[in-house]
Amino acid sequence: MNIFDLAGSAAEPAGAVCSRKACRAHAEWQLLWNNPKIHTPERRKIWLACPEHRAWLEDYLQTRGLWKETLSLDSPAGEAAAEDGPGSAVAPGRAG
Ligand SMILES: [Zn+2]
Repeated sequence: MNIFDLAGSAAEPAGAVCSRKACRAHAEWQLLWNNPKIHTPERRKIWLACPEHRAWLEDYLQTRGLWKETLSLDSPAGEAAAEDGPGSAVAPGRAG
């Protein structure tokens, strides 16, 4: 599963676009999340976020207990997500 597979062939403009409803801004972040009610634990869904909406989307997921990790869009999600442990790109030391 590679988010970049989605780009290029569809009618969407080139590049990643923020997942926030009605936002057409260029995304710079990817929010990795998992819903334990419908996904296996290792599964990762990815939302894209522009800088303006990154915090909004993180809060949305964290409120529901779905948020896992936020990575720069430059990071290959598959490899980064394979690491289980400290090393989150955001708020190091805030765990707990
Ligand atoms: Zn946005």
